[in-house]
Amino acid sequence: MSGTFFGAIADDFTGATDLAAMLSRAGVPVTLRIGVPKGPETATAFEVVALKIRTIPPEDAVAEARAALKWLRGQGARRIFWKYCSTFDSTPRGNIGPVADALMSDLDVDRTVHCPAFPENGRRVFMGNLFVGDQPLDESPMKDHPLTPMRDADLQRLLQPQVQRQTGLIAFPTVRAGAGAIRDAIARQAGHVVVDAVEDADLDVIAAAISDMELVCGGSAVARPLPALWAEAGELNRGENEPAPDVSPGRIVLSGSCSAMTRAQVGAYLDAGAIGYRLDPRDLAQDGVRDARAWLAAQDPEADKIVFATAEPKVVQAAQEALGVTRAGTLVEEAMAVLAQDARAMGIGRIVVAGGETSGAVTRALDVDRLRIGPEIAPGVPWCFAGNGSALALKSGNFGAATFFADAFSLLDKGAAVAAR
Ligand code: ADP
Repeated sequence: MSGTFFGAIADDFTGATDLAAMLSRAGVPVTLRIGVPKGPETATAFEVVALKIRTIPPEDAVAEARAALKWLRGQGARRIFWKYCSTFDSTPRGNIGPVADALMSDLDVDRTVHCPAFPENGRRVFMGNLFVGDQPLDESPMKDHPLTPMRDADLQRLLQPQVQRQTGLIAFPTVRAGAGAIRDAIARQAGHVVVDAVEDADLDVIAAAISDMELVCGGSAVARPLPALWAEAGELNRGENEPAPDVSPGRIVLSGSCSAMTRAQVGAYLDAGAIGYRLDPRDLAQDGVRDARAWLAAQDPEADKIVFATAEPKVVQAAQEALGVTRAGTLVEEAMAVLAQDARAMGIGRIVVAGGETSGAVTRALDVDRLRIGPEIAPGVPWCFAGNGSALALKSGNFGAATFFADAFSLLDKGAAVAAR
């Protein structure tokens, strides 16, 4: 069996690495593509195409997702996964729904499932409502997200305005009744079917019920059990992963996420002695990125350091009122992109980026087109090897423990990269 079996399209870069990490836990070689590959490529069994389409206009997001689908099918992919965030990050226009609709049309399927639950990270879906920890989504810190503030927890209510097909629900009692019951319930519905999941064990059962569906939509966690199911069914060769490469020792954290967890992580890293530089979008609008670049140029490449725009909701809101949401975000992202290029020119090989959009901007600036998945620092956040002596860790805002940044570097310091599966 050669060529690609499983192809995923991710709406942002951290989401793509999160899914790739989940798949690679099964010991299957996974390649992450940054954008849709242009030239001829040697494809692996599992391909994840990272796009940056979470907050762009829906018609553009659909066009990019369709191009990714076309490439993946060209490599032979027989299972397609539309990966979005486990906190269902979207606006009333999209882009979760419009992309799912377009993929259904292109694949000619009349139903798909939506399963964002990620219990290991505290995201659970019960009776169609998404919880983050013990809070409904719309009471969680996601209500204050700079780009996709989530103001409802009911997934069908969030999805319906985004899609043309109907939405449905497979509720918890059916999930607990087992894979057969889930399969029967899916067969009775059409359109977009939201599936409850509270614990990892629920995802195992759901995965068994959906492993032969052509299109699955959701967070990365429901993909975790799939490789083993496909291998058992004889549809997949596991293959071998290569050992991880050497990575030059310089380091930096670039943090553009303002999530509650990232705020705690930035605080913990500074408390632990890292040197910090704060970026403010209003300063960037006035003076550009010159000061930040000068600061970085004066640093020891190997010292612990962080550039952060991470700020409290009130501070973010003030910048957004002064500059507009998009401009404030873009100024930060562009600054992070330039600083990442400077860091690499200084020989810094280990770059941790916090924030999905921020990760997209940085990865593009570094002109990386494919990444190999290495060891996981925290659930859903692996080190990724770029093949040019550099490694990137792309952390979605809410992921990781408070000590994530120090954890990331010590994992590579310990040489754990060699254990990349
Ligand atoms: P997350 O993974 O937490 O969602 P993202 O990087 O995807 O993080 O999104 C955060 C967005 O907020 C980015 O567009 C970033 O540029 C923007 N941003 C970061 N800091 C600030 C700030 N201080 N003021 C306004 N916007 C900011």
